[in-house]
Amino acid sequence: MLKLHGKSVYNGIAMGPVMIMKKSDEQVKRVKIEDAQAEIARVNRALGASREQLQNLYEKAAAEVGEAHAAIFEAHQMMLEDDDFLGAIVQMIRTEMVNAEFAVAATGEHFARMFADMEDDYMRARAADIKDITNRMIQNLNGGAGADFRAMQPSVVVADDLSPSETVQMDKEKILALVTVHGSANSHTAILARTMNIPALIGVPVDLGQIRTGMTAIVDGEAGEAIFEPTQEQMREAEKKIAREQEKTRLLEELKGRPNVTRSGRTIHVYANIGGVGDVGYALENDAGGIGLFRSEFLYLGRDGFPTEEEQMQAYTQVLRAMGEKKVIIRTLDIGADKKVDYFKLKQEENPALGCRAIRICLKQPDIFKTQLRALLRASVYGNLSVMYPMIISETEVHQIDKIVKEAQRELDAEGIPYRTPEQGIMIETPAAVMISDKLAQLVDFFSIGTNDLTQYTLAIDRQNEELDCFYNPHHPAVLQMIRMTVENAHRYGKWVGICGELGADLELTQIFVEMGVDELSVSPSMVLPLRRKIRELP
Ligand code: PEP
Ligand code: MG
Repeated sequence: MLKLHGKSVYNGIAMGPVMIMKKSDEQVKRVKIEDAQAEIARVNRALGASREQLQNLYEKAAAEVGEAHAAIFEAHQMMLEDDDFLGAIVQMIRTEMVNAEFAVAATGEHFARMFADMEDDYMRARAADIKDITNRMIQNLNGGAGADFRAMQPSVVVADDLSPSETVQMDKEKILALVTVHGSANSHTAILARTMNIPALIGVPVDLGQIRTGMTAIVDGEAGEAIFEPTQEQMREAEKKIAREQEKTRLLEELKGRPNVTRSGRTIHVYANIGGVGDVGYALENDAGGIGLFRSEFLYLGRDGFPTEEEQMQAYTQVLRAMGEKKVIIRTLDIGADKKVDYFKLKQEENPALGCRAIRICLKQPDIFKTQLRALLRASVYGNLSVMYPMIISETEVHQIDKIVKEAQRELDAEGIPYRTPEQGIMIETPAAVMISDKLAQLVDFFSIGTNDLTQYTLAIDRQNEELDCFYNPHHPAVLQMIRMTVENAHRYGKWVGICGELGADLELTQIFVEMGVDELSVSPSMVLPLRRKIRELP
């Protein structure tokens, strides 16, 4: 039994088998071996496991998204059978007497470089596939299932750290709980865990070499504890707690369909934050009144190139259709800082949180922005769409945005493509925007306060820096004063104002927000019903 403590990102309790998620780009060490035959046998076993996983992936993808999209897994299977590739690995083990992981990594790197240097675009693109199969082989040699969520049973995922792009690729149905060694409570990974409604602990000092995939673990978000190989007694306790949690959930279920109204009759809109099309189900399950923040940048993560206008339109349309008449607020691209996407080719920065991110990228690269705007405008005919822009600091930016929106509209007019002009608002997440919120309120239809960044920029604390979590205090009077000022200025000009940062779900502050006059709170889907209960208890 091994009991460790960490910071809780989402309360709740889960018990199940561990799956260690290793970084696919983890450095592979060169180790001198004695028995080449045994090492080659390991390669063959990893090959068998990889083949089976790829076949499973192929079948699942073919059934879910069609054969055309599944073909990539077939191609990977074929590459795995390549005699040159396998021959080179075996040769290296025999002649250099090195471990299988190193031989696979070195051979993979050599082949990937060979493809990357080719003239033909198609062949050059195969370099990424070689890397993919090499990583799969290494993961299988290490006995880990890696990121192969589709082939795994529901598990407690344990990782050193997770980036937003890794988290977004996970099959959320398969994750019982998340445990990471590193990570900040305010990071997007933590936010995704909340969206998924699963117990999650970060900053757990677990030695990944000490635990195994398959061993049992209990993750107790409320107690901030992860227990590996629990005793019978601990398992019985956990089962009781799980039952109590289920009872709490059942009581919350009774609030479905009820209004978010205080005892004195004030209605607050309670919406949900989502990171992708797949999260709409969580919003609906939890009876959210709308989507208050769709972080559209997640459409851009975990892929090799820009999503096309058509792809984006499909995604937005799916969300709008699923929500029917309910409001869906889609935020335009907020890439940068912790949300990194290689194909944007952004320069390395000293201070990424203060760097080229969000609307700054969109205004510097208007073509990327216009593609997204066209997709949004086209999707608008399928539901109740609002669009909002992140990281605003000036009136000029709002005017520049307006110009690009109008350009997109003119193009669609000329092409005879139908669209509606959506309600348009901005995020208030910089102190600059707060200080000129009286001016900004006259230019837009609504405000949504992003308290995660507003806290970061007001307190001058990098929200990603786990060392500073103890100073990151969103209850700081300066932050609350900023929220109050924003609400007053919005209302002065007859505009509605919401909060879509994590603070919106902080039940200790609900009464204060209601008293300030906040009109809408947009929270993780799992917080919709607890917030509704809180609002209904208020005077
Ligand atoms: C915020 O900053 O509060 C916000 C909602 O945006 P994000 O967390 O995606 O930066
Ligand atoms: Mg933000």
